[in-house]
Amino acid sequence: MHFISEALDEYVVAHSENEPDLLKALTRETYQKVLQPRMLSGHYQGRVLSMLSKLIAPKTILEIGTYTGYSALCLAEGMNADGELHTIDINEELHDFQRKYFDASAFGDRIHQYTGDALEIIPALETTFDLVFIDADKPNYPAYFHAIIDKMNSGGVILSDNVLWSGKVIEPLQNHDISTKALLAYNALLKEDARVETVLLPIRDGLTISRVL
Ligand code: SAH
Ligand code: CA
Repeated sequence: MHFISEALDEYVVAHSENEPDLLKALTRETYQKVLQPRMLSGHYQGRVLSMLSKLIAPKTILEIGTYTGYSALCLAEGMNADGELHTIDINEELHDFQRKYFDASAFGDRIHQYTGDALEIIPALETTFDLVFIDADKPNYPAYFHAIIDKMNSGGVILSDNVLWSGKVIEPLQNHDISTKALLAYNALLKEDARVETVLLPIRDGLTISRVL
């Protein structure tokens, strides 16, 4: 779904940073070998994530929902020289694919993979975070927020992806649609929770920036 016209979207992309070659190769191989390649962040959103991470210059990053590693590599571009990125995915079949691309990047030894349910893994992490990217299963978004909020450093940033859910957040809610239902609750939570300051950006499928006070 395009929230802006395709022509304007092309103009926006043409006047943003180019996609690094490694990420082009990762995208090609994802389309060849992995199911649901549309879940990739992709060129434009990837450059947005890279830019935000560079502005934040985080020492510690947590990503929930690695998929084939595209967004992890974009976020890693902004890490401090001694920064570390932790990324979680429940699908063990993606592990070796991710590792191949992490090792081909400049950040391989500073990207740590975890395989399993993020809600089980997060409580066991002993780190606190400057930047968190939430991009896994939508029904768990509120639970992810509650799992990470006490692990955020002051001034840290939570980025939440797909918060407009192809525009479904303003359509009549279907009874069985647990993803939209959870995203409605999640967007309200970010707006109302006094521990964060939030702006929802209509970038791609909706990307929210929440700054932890
Ligand atoms: N961040 C990636 C895309 C993530 S797609 C990018 O932008 O390129 C969503 C991912 O969340 C999938 O790979 C899926 O396996 C993972 N996922 C779904 N449920 C999960 C859970 N409970 N815990 C951890 N990962 C989960
Ligand atoms: Ca996403």
